[in-house]
Amino acid sequence: LAFQLFRELGLNDLVLHLNSVGCPSCRPIYRQKLLDFFADKKESLCDDCRERLEKNPLRVLDCKADGEKMMNMGVPLITEHLCESCQSHFQQVQQYLQAVGIPFVKDPRLVRGLDYYTNTAFEIMYAPLGAQSTVCGGGRYDGLIAEVGGPSTPGIGFAVGMERLLLTLKEQGLLTVPVGVPPIFIVALGEAARAKAFVLQQALRARQIAAEIDLMGRSMKGQMKAANKAGAGYTVIIGEEELARQEVQVRNMTTKEQIAVPMNELVTYMESNRRDD
Ligand SMILES: [Zn+2]
Ligand SMILES: [Zn+2]
Repeated sequence: LAFQLFRELGLNDLVLHLNSVGCPSCRPIYRQKLLDFFADKKESLCDDCRERLEKNPLRVLDCKADGEKMMNMGVPLITEHLCESCQSHFQQVQQYLQAVGIPFVKDPRLVRGLDYYTNTAFEIMYAPLGAQSTVCGGGRYDGLIAEVGGPSTPGIGFAVGMERLLLTLKEQGLLTVPVGVPPIFIVALGEAARAKAFVLQQALRARQIAAEIDLMGRSMKGQMKAANKAGAGYTVIIGEEELARQEVQVRNMTTKEQIAVPMNELVTYMESNRRDD
């Protein structure tokens, strides 16, 4: 589901990193193996990891400072300590991924600090982002619902980092910022006008035109000031008279020209001012 989402956004060169974090029957055994392994290596771990040993020794593996080092020292890997059922689950996940052509690498350092994860843990990475390369992470959460007090219910989930996704889209030339109409600030006076301003704002945004409204109950003067500060290209004014006439005043902030436009024609009017640069 996650990978398909990114494919539909047109993204390329994403790599799925895949691991299994086992289940409540095999993970504690692995955890103990790790603790045994780290027992005489505490001195070589960073401060964070020494703390992690108490709470979550698995997390040492994804430590930037220690993960690679511990791999080189032959740290036991969870994939070598999965119970039979977890092993076959992990095999199956890989077969299914291959069957639908999703490229993946097995990443035994990909662990999670959260107990509700079972079996699958994954991250989707875009390498050119360097240290920020993980765009999405998730897995199987069979323990989650029970942990928050519900009946034992299997589950999956993932989270996407919006900024990283935007960076990835930008890197791949897929982030097209609509150009044309300069940002608009709608100045509204009174409750009814404010409600109308909100509707107009949504209509403008639906046409890829940036539009702001006052959210702080400012006076007319205060809103005009805010419009200036926001760098609005146009200020759209709705007062009592305009409301009664179902009109707005559109003020071009550069030329200071102001004209009345019927409310239901505002979007069309703004689009007719779209520049092509
Ligand atoms: Zn298991
Ligand atoms: Zn560390």
